[in-house]
Amino acid sequence: MLRTHNNGELRIANVNEIVTLCGWVQRTRDKGGMIWIDLRDRYGITQLMLEEGKTPKEAIETARSLGREFVISVTGTVVERLSKNDKLPTGDIEVKVTELSILNPAKLPPFLIEDETDGGDDIRMKYRYLDLRRNPVRQNLILRHKMAQEVRSYLDKQGFIEVETPVLIKSTPEGARDFVVPSRMNPGEFYALPQSPQTFKQLLMVSGFDRYFQIVKCFRDEDLRADRQPEFTQIDCEMSFIEQEDILQMFEGLVRQLFQNLKGIEINEISRMTYAHAMKYYGSDKPDIRFGMEFYELKSEEVDLTSDKNFPVFDAASVVVGINAKGCAEYTRKQVDELTDFVKRPQIGAKGLIYVRYNADGSIKSSVDKFYSEEDLKKWIEAANAQPGDLLLILCGDGDKPRKQLNELRLEMGNRLGLRNPNEYSVHWVVDFPLLEHSEEENRWFAMHHPFTSPKPEDIEFLKSGDLGKIRANAYDMVINGVEVGGGSIRIFQKDLQAKMFETLGFSDEEAKHQFGFLMDAFEYGAPPHGGLAFGFDRLCSLFGGSDSIRDFIAFPKNNSGRDVMIDSPSTIDAKQLDELKIKTIV
Ligand code: ASP
Repeated sequence: MLRTHNNGELRIANVNEIVTLCGWVQRTRDKGGMIWIDLRDRYGITQLMLEEGKTPKEAIETARSLGREFVISVTGTVVERLSKNDKLPTGDIEVKVTELSILNPAKLPPFLIEDETDGGDDIRMKYRYLDLRRNPVRQNLILRHKMAQEVRSYLDKQGFIEVETPVLIKSTPEGARDFVVPSRMNPGEFYALPQSPQTFKQLLMVSGFDRYFQIVKCFRDEDLRADRQPEFTQIDCEMSFIEQEDILQMFEGLVRQLFQNLKGIEINEISRMTYAHAMKYYGSDKPDIRFGMEFYELKSEEVDLTSDKNFPVFDAASVVVGINAKGCAEYTRKQVDELTDFVKRPQIGAKGLIYVRYNADGSIKSSVDKFYSEEDLKKWIEAANAQPGDLLLILCGDGDKPRKQLNELRLEMGNRLGLRNPNEYSVHWVVDFPLLEHSEEENRWFAMHHPFTSPKPEDIEFLKSGDLGKIRANAYDMVINGVEVGGGSIRIFQKDLQAKMFETLGFSDEEAKHQFGFLMDAFEYGAPPHGGLAFGFDRLCSLFGGSDSIRDFIAFPKNNSGRDVMIDSPSTIDAKQLDELKIKTIV
């Protein structure tokens, strides 16, 4: 070992010990007679002290030649500090240097390597290895490490076996675009990188593994957002001879343990909500239920409190829904305009926002006074369960659209009213997802989760009758604070039902065989009933770390164009490599 201690270790009890430390120079303060150096490593910072006249000359000279991030080694005696620093665990002591040597000089780093840095995103990503020296970034990765250990320990205790599945495979069915890899030995043919190990974990169930897990890289060639990366990590799990309820309970246990051991938080109730309920009352399949503000309906298939008053906008809509912003009746015109602009942004796309102020004095004022009498509006107020002082915000349209738009407004109001406390956690399941969703564009049905998801037995008849929109699946998502952290399903394990599902999704027999023949074959050799789920590991880490961006929790992430700017990838390959692969590019 080149050192006796690390830089986070020395305390008052070590005073008078002779120690050797190594690390990076965080900063040097030269006050003429005295020089102080902050020496940093992964474990912390220790202050070094050199004194003109007392410290050997060579050491003083070397100290004066140091720059930021030089790698040095020092030997000296631990002494009690005159002025202590209670912000540092090592703040009671400093090391009086007797020997100092430079192990490696360093160029001036392109940004400050401190908790608060002056480096922008791009430069930090280009020099990510320097960014990783910073405390907050390192803490994120330590959290990730601990999370992985907790996951392994919980699942191991529950009898799960970690099995690695291949990375060079063929197209998987999670519904995104595949990344592909050309095969040199099989010219003209390609591997696909797994969007998830879905089919493999099902095959492991056929093999009798019973309980499988893997912390595994998955690859999806999708457009990127803050919470997406082309390669990301899942905690992927599968179990045999279980029902949905067994899976929900098993993974509630995992999440409880993670909260308990990593954050010291006891998670109370983990509630369940159907997809239908979530859409109707929150306009989202991942509602943030840390606060209420559920939707009420003014017009839908069940109620109509808006028609016959000659308000053409509502008359033309099949759905009128609203939220009650408690205590917001006093919002100024400007504030209401801001909300209107918010819902009219292209990403949300509402045409406008209707409001009703239920003033503290009981009077009512609305943007549709011309059409609706006070009596009419009182009915709305009743439907909204509003009290004097509240503000009703209302959107309209057709289908799910106004609800999805209102979901955005609800979350915005939740933020504005401080109802989304990042230190408060609510965990719940959304269950009974539809099995299929219809694409207007392509005029065909898609699997909402993936084609191996089992319909609810009582809904299988709709598969035969063609009432496809009505089929509910044994599929579930776990939602924490409005973020979908994981999801899965009970699988189809009967060959015939699986064949019917492929047919419904528009696969010809041949296509189904070509793509998933191996799974259909396996189902003929005794497939047990099984099901599972996968958690987005990066997302779980960012949630625990209190950040919106998963990138902060990935050691070497890609930017929004899918580039690794540090290693400069993707990049072209040389002609020889292309020749070997029998590939011609046309860009
Ligand atoms: N493979 C699924 C996914 O990646 C998860 C599952 O169904 O277990 O979303």
